[in-house]
Amino acid sequence: MSRPQPPRRYFIETWGCQMNELDSQRMAGQLMQQGMLPTRDPGEADLILLNSCSVREKAEQKVYSRLGELRLLKRERGDLLLGLCGCVAQQEGERALRRVSDLDFVIGPARVGELSEIVSKRRLGTRVVATGFPEQRHFDLDAISRDGTHKGMVTIIEGCNKTCTFCIVPSTRGPERSRPLGEVMQEVRHLVDYGFREIELLGQTVNHWRDPESNADFADLLDAVAREPRVERLRFVTSYPRDFTARMVEAVGRHRNICPYLHLPVQSGSDRILRRMGRGYTVASYLELVEALRAARPDLAISTDVIVGFPGEDEDDFTATLELIEGVRFSSIFAFCYSPRPGTAAPRLGGEVAAAVAQERLQLLLGRQAAIQQELNAAFVGREMEVIVTGASRDGSELIGRTTCHRIVHFPIVPTPTPGTILRVRIDAGLPHSLRGQAVLGQEATATAVGPWRSTAVPVLA
Ligand code: SF4
Repeated sequence: MSRPQPPRRYFIETWGCQMNELDSQRMAGQLMQQGMLPTRDPGEADLILLNSCSVREKAEQKVYSRLGELRLLKRERGDLLLGLCGCVAQQEGERALRRVSDLDFVIGPARVGELSEIVSKRRLGTRVVATGFPEQRHFDLDAISRDGTHKGMVTIIEGCNKTCTFCIVPSTRGPERSRPLGEVMQEVRHLVDYGFREIELLGQTVNHWRDPESNADFADLLDAVAREPRVERLRFVTSYPRDFTARMVEAVGRHRNICPYLHLPVQSGSDRILRRMGRGYTVASYLELVEALRAARPDLAISTDVIVGFPGEDEDDFTATLELIEGVRFSSIFAFCYSPRPGTAAPRLGGEVAAAVAQERLQLLLGRQAAIQQELNAAFVGREMEVIVTGASRDGSELIGRTTCHRIVHFPIVPTPTPGTILRVRIDAGLPHSLRGQAVLGQEATATAVGPWRSTAVPVLA
């Protein structure tokens, strides 16, 4: 009598943004439909996927060096399949198969829905390169392994049509393509049926979404999703400043289940550098938008991205960025030194900034920002905030959660909560990068989703 075979296992390593995180969930779902199970140990996997990101410098080298490590596993186990996915896969394509003889397939971000067929083809002997941006793309709602505990992510727009001179996204994720309103709403309902309390709408330029059928815009979509019963928290990322309209600002102000947190990349505080970046807005128009958003939602926390040492950036430009940071008082900043990306226009602009100078500016910027965050976070001490539990600390000694304004909160373990529970937490310390507090027991915040403010503890930022 033949013994039953143990299930095959997959291991997915994900680098980069939420779009990649969701793509990994889509790939996991397809593999589970094939009867495979996940593993945390690449050593016991039958299939390893490296879902890569190409936003930062040396992305390709990092990917090839990681593939070099993984191919050693393959040499020990001849039947192990090794696949490269994500933006570096799109960028490298055929070249990756030539460089890494043990690589079995390459899948670009727009071809993620074809993973099952690609794995089957490979098992029949063909090494596959699936890149490019086909008009028809598989998107199987039932084939997503939603491994988040409370937040369901929904891609509403893929790719980007803009031409920011530093950015590789248009060539790795292709031209912009919005998903139809009906399809987005179907997925949102599917997620709340599944028990997700928080919905996050995703796109490189999420607020440039347009329904291909009715021409409804992102303001209409915000209205539709926010009015959907059981959507308790609604987030969206990433918004492009120039695409934010007055109607969108009004929608953010109108729906209290839209979280008071917005990521609004500014990139520089100098108009001269913004022009060289090809961003299509000015510092003044950015500040006007921030003012309008805060007027509509006084509790809104705004985070941003900044590139330091962009070609041509001089001391005055950098000082202007520091002034912007001081003026806006962002809740957090993702700041990096500029790094040239293949196929982008910025490296041809001239005016390279020395690495040491860029590093020095970055440290100065981060130091100023840490002080601002410390002040903003200290202002929460003594308040009660609504916190969604996202997990436990590594040593299991305390719980970690997020406020509606996306701040991280650490607090001592309390008896009942599992990830996804919403609790009231009294804040007793504000640190530069997080808050600390105590759960207010017996007062679990379980209010319903739609309509007026659910939280009684909404902070107002300066
Ligand atoms: S808007 Fe600019 S920075 Fe953002 S993805 Fe498009 S090209 Fe890149």
